[in-house]
Amino acid sequence: MVKKEFQAESKRLLEMMIHSIYSQKEIFLRELISNASDAIDKIYYRALTDDSLTFNQENYYIKIEADKENRFLKVTDTGIGMTKDELESNLGVIAKSGSLAFKKENEMKDGQEIIGQFGVGFYSSFMVADRVTVITKALDSNEAYKWESQGADGYTIEPCEKDEVGTEILLKIKENTEDDSYDEYLEEYRLKAIIKKYSDFIRYPIKMEVTEH
Ligand code: ADP
Ligand code: MG
Repeated sequence: MVKKEFQAESKRLLEMMIHSIYSQKEIFLRELISNASDAIDKIYYRALTDDSLTFNQENYYIKIEADKENRFLKVTDTGIGMTKDELESNLGVIAKSGSLAFKKENEMKDGQEIIGQFGVGFYSSFMVADRVTVITKALDSNEAYKWESQGADGYTIEPCEKDEVGTEILLKIKENTEDDSYDEYLEEYRLKAIIKKYSDFIRYPIKMEVTEH
């Protein structure tokens, strides 16, 4: 399998995330939930104009699952998903909001401010995870794909199995270091507090499951 390189700008933002000393690492969850919600919105709006598609409220939700023992945090949505090309263009290169943050960084030289001010998006996952896996199946597609990255050295994309349309983002949560603890991102009470703080307005249900072992 060929490992592809991130676009230069993306790589720099990614590096910034990986080595982030930003204290509010928790915002990664806000970003993932907002992406999940956007993806469901896309189906919702499609259904308004596409008669072959009906939007049944109960089929659309966001699910957060934590597996403490194996240090996995998973965010699943039943949104529109991504094709292989979309995976490539959306996760391989920097998003608009990200570019903005990146430009500001050069002006201000202080990464701290920016992360709070702008949505830094998907790459903020790398503040808390050392490996990120995206499994996705696009609406109207029979194929599912897996995107995976361990950081700035690149990413891989390969076909995989997935029955339902939508996206699963699997974070391998970092081990604690002398200076930083990441265990909290696997704790139910902590995850609930973050969701309450940033995602109270999300109009789709957010379900949660925590496995203690
Ligand atoms: P932004 O949300 O500002 O566009 P992000 O970095 O958060 O930037 O996301 C980049 C892009 O990746 C999104 O615009 C979207 O096209 C795609 N994406 C991310 N997460 C999902 C998801 N859960 N489902 C479908 N597409 C997604
Ligand atoms: Mg986003």
